[in-house]
Formats: sequence, structure tokens, C-alpha cells
Amino acid sequence: MQSLRFTALEGLTGVDVKIKPELNGKITDVFGSNVFSGRTMREHLSDEAYKSLMNSIKAGTKIERKMAEQISSGMKSWAMKKGVTHYTHWFQPLTGTTAEKHDSFFTLKSDGTSIETFDGDALVQQEPDASSFPNGGIRATFEARGYTAWDPSSPAFIIEQGAGKTLCIPTIFVAYTGESLDYKAPLLKALAALDKSAVDVCNYFDKNVSKVTATLGWEQEYFLVDEGLANARPDLVMCGRTVVGHAPAKGQQLEDHYFGAIPERAYAFMRDFEEESYKLGIPLRTRHNEVAPAQFECAPIFEEVNIAVDHNSLLMDVMAKVGKRHKLRVLLHEKPFAGINGSGKHNNWSLATDTGVNLLAPGKTPKTNLMFLTFFVNTIKAVHDYNDLMRAAIASPSNDFRLGANEAPPAIISVFVGKYLAEVLEAVKTRVNNKFDEQDEAILKLDLHRHIPELLLDNTDRNRTSPFAFTGNKFEFRAVGSSANCASAMTVMNTIMAKTLANFKTEVDGLIEKGEKKEIAIMQTLRKYIVDSEKILFEGDGYSDEWAAEAEKRGLPNVKTTPRALDAYVTEKNTKLFIETGVYNEKELHARYEILLEDYVKKVQIEARVIGDLATNTILPCAISYLNTLLSNINGMKTAGFPESAYKAQKQIAEKISEHINVISENVQAMIEARKVANKLSDSREKAIDYCEKIKEAYFDTIRYHADKLEFLVDDKIWALPKYRELLFLR
Ligand code: ADP
Ligand code: MG
Repeated sequence: MQSLRFTALEGLTGVDVKIKPELNGKITDVFGSNVFSGRTMREHLSDEAYKSLMNSIKAGTKIERKMAEQISSGMKSWAMKKGVTHYTHWFQPLTGTTAEKHDSFFTLKSDGTSIETFDGDALVQQEPDASSFPNGGIRATFEARGYTAWDPSSPAFIIEQGAGKTLCIPTIFVAYTGESLDYKAPLLKALAALDKSAVDVCNYFDKNVSKVTATLGWEQEYFLVDEGLANARPDLVMCGRTVVGHAPAKGQQLEDHYFGAIPERAYAFMRDFEEESYKLGIPLRTRHNEVAPAQFECAPIFEEVNIAVDHNSLLMDVMAKVGKRHKLRVLLHEKPFAGINGSGKHNNWSLATDTGVNLLAPGKTPKTNLMFLTFFVNTIKAVHDYNDLMRAAIASPSNDFRLGANEAPPAIISVFVGKYLAEVLEAVKTRVNNKFDEQDEAILKLDLHRHIPELLLDNTDRNRTSPFAFTGNKFEFRAVGSSANCASAMTVMNTIMAKTLANFKTEVDGLIEKGEKKEIAIMQTLRKYIVDSEKILFEGDGYSDEWAAEAEKRGLPNVKTTPRALDAYVTEKNTKLFIETGVYNEKELHARYEILLEDYVKKVQIEARVIGDLATNTILPCAISYLNTLLSNINGMKTAGFPESAYKAQKQIAEKISEHINVISENVQAMIEARKVANKLSDSREKAIDYCEKIKEAYFDTIRYHADKLEFLVDDKIWALPKYRELLFLR
């Protein structure tokens, strides 16, 4: 029987590329048409209900029972007009995917009358039987009750699957006992803490500010692979990455893909998923080819972080679904192919006030520039103080393949500020001293103002090797992985910022109480923070070995693997941080830590099994079959009386193949034994470290090395797995 590889290769020529017509040039016609927000809300809600919903969105307060009834009824009438039959609470459990359980509006009254209902209770709270989501021991399965609760700050939306339409209500997911079990609940708590401390600090400069939100613009990288070819690779199906595969003769060295013309088939897919995204209110703006062959990127216009996170989760779902229509597999894994670039998801982050000011954009006046400088320096201080947590926030088994692999920022967290701002920091450091008085302050402020150019968005002053770079009016956290839920990084970012700003206020207030003038107190504290955080600043090449050595000298951590990076979540200092800011209580924090360790173990375990299976029942059989061909050829030549020199090459190849077969087989056996040992460990951390160091690091690369040699040696016609050159270049 022909292998799936060749069936898939034959299938490629029959792919019919259909590009949707452009939207008459107007995206605004469809934008947000499946979202219950803005105008739609106004149309379907009474004045009273509309106001109450708006207030609760602004203030983050609960919605009254009576209002919930009115809102649900408005939502239902809107949804039914659009052909919706079912609704679901939509949430983001810690599995890394989104979750839905559909219920219909349809119901029977006690007298048998059938009607469609959607009451306030159904909107506000649900109890999915969700006992199988990760809970880190918080919910023993016998009390499987966790519930989902409406997050009014993220608008409801309609998902279409063919003719089926479902109303989705964004919710948080919590245990019956109140502990959070998802990504959204802690993010909302971090944002509340940030709001409070950022408003306090803003009020030093502007009394009109009453709310501060964080903004996020993510840049999603991904690979596209033909579905038929992907299906012929059990590793892509099960792990989302290739665990074996010989490097193709041509990779990305010609740099001919980056920003090149988008291939037709990819373009057709993009047009399609973009349109779906627009309907859902996801403000996509950019699309282009990335560095690696078959790699692409899309990015939206930034939004308030909670909504941006929901939109990214939604986008990842939409992409997978639309990909199917185009017979394409969307790979969100951080490192689907060895030897060529992996994928990240830059998180562009900033802070915005309700008065319309971007707090990380240089100001127009000396005073607003001091406000900018305050938030800028506090960000640096936050990253300095909690760089271990930032590393933990981006830790995942898949991102471990990418961090520090000379294409992505290293596992060392540092901050890049650029030449101008480095000089500004230096000026504050040298000019603010004990004798610093009002006049000095006024002069310094003016000097700084002159020094901070209004527009820092100069591409020449960019460092693409830094994990956390200031890019003119925002910071760009580049180490986030492509498959991650942004909430993980954003929760930590906003929590550490909340805490740092709160400390800042305490220090400044302390100085003011001692009789210092406000602006001098601010300058003094900023100077202190600059001095304290100096070691986190790095302007050079983050990919270089020199930086790793330098960082070590500076005492900056360089934690390369997830099981060890996660330690940062539960240190005494960081536990205190999460408790004080109200983001996690101790139980939640430990549960989350457990879940992340368990997730690590499970994913590495699956990969180990896939490697073992592939080696044993696909790679070795291909190699043995070719070996048999060689042997019968050798025997035939011998029988026909050829001298040994005539079949020398065949013999050498046969020897090499048999050698690789033996090494693979031995390593697969040893890896199975190592798993047995690891599986007996009861401590999650120990187990995760064992899986990392004694299984993954000990065997994966070795097995792969020999498998790839076999791929090179064995007759192409009998090799069962699609090759890199096919996965990456054929479409
Ligand atoms: P790049 O050169 O890195 O692609 P862009 O200016 O195109 O930079 O922006 C990348 C992302 O940053 C976009 O999603 C954009 O909307 C977002 N962004 C811009 N300003 C902000 C901001 N103030 N807060 C958060 N994200 C922002
Ligand atoms: Mg970027």
C-alpha cells in the first residue's frame, strides 16, 4: 500500500485555491457585526440597562439582578435575529485552549409549550460539569462544581460554524470554593490592582485621571502546512511539532520568504480568517510572510488588555477552523521545525488613562514628560525586581525550544531602552543629588524635555534581540511564545507594575511628609529606582555569548528550562506579591504551579511516546526494508560472482544503516526505562525536572540525530514521513 506521504503529495496538485472577493474595499461593513457592543447594545437595551452595563464595564462592578434580566433579554433578541439557536459561556481554562458548552435557547414550559428563553441567571452564572479541567488539586472530583461567571467588560459574540450560530458569553472560571481556575480571573484582578496604583501615581501630575488600563497589541506568528502532509506526520498531529526530520537542502538562508509576496494559498486562507475575525471585532491590521519558509504573521490594532487577550484566544480558534476549510494545518507551536526559525507572539504593552493619555509615550510638555519618565522608570524597576517572574510567565515546554536558540530572545530577561532614553536615565542619575533643589529640578525637567524627542519611533534605534524593548511609546515583550495565552504574561506584567507603582507612591509620599516638594520627591525616587535597576538594562546583542557571560556577572538569572523557571511563582517574595496585590491567594498560586508542572510532564511524556512510536513502527521499518534491498543486492552480486569491491558502497551503506538502527533501538528502550523511573516520582517538581533532564535532554536529540541520518540514507520512495522540503515548500 502506498504511504500517506505519497497520497498527500499527489493530493497537492488537486488543491483548489479560492480567494474570497475583497469586502468591496470596506472592512467597516462587517467589522463587529457578530459582537454585542456599541450600537447593537444601544439598540437592544433600554436606557437604564445600557447605562447600568456601561457603568459596570467602567467601574468593574457587579450588575444588579434586575438589570441582568433586561440585558439577557436584549442579547437574546439580537442573537435570535441573527439566527442564533444556542448560547454558551466561553472561558479559558488552564488547558491552553478555549472551552464552550452549548445550551439551546429552546425550552419546554411545564404545560409543554415550547419557547426560547435566555434569562438573567443563564447570562450571569453557569455550572458546567467541568470536573476534567486542570485544577491543581483545588477541586477534588467528588465536588466537581466549578462555575463560570460573566465578564461584562468583554463583549458577547456569535460564533458561526456553517449554518450553526452560537452566542458566546466571555466568562471567568472559578472553583465552587472561589479559587480561580482560568486565565481571565487573575488577569482581571491584576488589572484592578494596576488601575488603583497607576491612578494614584497619575494624580501626582493630573487630578483628572480616574482610570488606568493596560493596552496590548500582540503579533501572532504561525506556520501553514498542507493538511494532507501534516496528517502523514503523527508528530505534527500529536505534538504540533516535528520530532524528526532531516534539514532540507534549502532552508531560510536565502531570506527569500521574509516580507516576500504572500503565496496564493496562504493568501486565500488569510483573507478568509481575517473576514471571520473582523466579524468578531478582532481589529486585524497587518499580515506578512515571516523569516522561515511557510511562516507568517498577523497583528491587530492594540486594545484594552482583557479584550486583546480574548481576541487572541478567539483568533487562534478561528485560524484553526478556517485552516480546515483550506486544507491547511495552522501550526502555533513555538518550534515546529528544527533548524529554522520558531514562532513567537510579541506582546506590545502600554498603559492608557481615561483622559486619553498613553503613559509610556513621551509627553508634550516638561510636566507630562516627567509623568512619562515616572511610568517608564517604574516599568524598568518592575522588570528588574521581578525578572524571574517574567521568565516564569512565558515558560512552557514548547517555548523552551525557542528561548535562547539564537533567533528568539534568550532566557535572560533584560530591558532595552535605546540611546536617547539611556542618556535621559544617566542625566537623572548624575544630576539628582542631596543638594538637588527646586531650581535644579526645574532646569533638569526642561533639559529632559528637550532631550526626549517627541517621536522615538525611529526604526534605526531598535534592538530586535532584546526580550523586553522600549519601542517609542510602548514596551514590547518579545519572549512570549506563539501558542501561549497572552494572559499569562500580561497578568504578571500588570501585577509587578501595580506593586512597583504602589511602592513608588509610598516612597514619594514619605519624602513629601518629610517636607520635600512633590516634584523633587519624585525625581529623588526615580533616581533611586534607576540606580537600583541598572543591571537589567542591556543595549547590546542579546543573542551573543558575551551577553550570557556578562549577565551571569551581573547576577541575572538564565533559566533555560520550564520546570526550573516555574520556581519563581512560589518564592517567598513572589508569593507575597501575588497575595498583596490580590491576584492569587496562596492556594490558587500553588494550584497553578502544580498545574503548570503537570502540564509540562504530560507534554514531554506525549512527545517521548510519539518519538518512541515513530522510531519503532515507522522509521526502523523503513530503514530495515531498505537494508533488505541492499542485502539482497549484495547477495545477488556475490552469487553472480562479482568481486567484493563491486558492492563496496552497498555494504558500507548497509553497515551505516544497521548501526543507526541499533543506536535508535537502544535509546528508545532506555528512554522507556527512564520514563518508568520518572513516573514513580510523586513530587511534581521532581518529576518535571526528571522528564526534562533525564528524558527529553537525555534522549530526544540523540534519537533524532540517528533518525535523520536514516532519512538521508534510505531510498526516498520508501520513506514514509513527509520531508521538511515537502512540508515547508509545497503548497
Ligand atoms: P512592529 O514594528 O513591532 O511591528 P508596530 O508599530 O507595527 O510595531 O506595532 C506592533 C503592535 O503594537 C501592533 O499591534 C500595535 O497596535 C501595537 N501597539 C501600538 N501602540 C501600542 C500601545 N500604546 N499599547 C499597546 N500596543 C500598542
Ligand atoms: Mg514587533
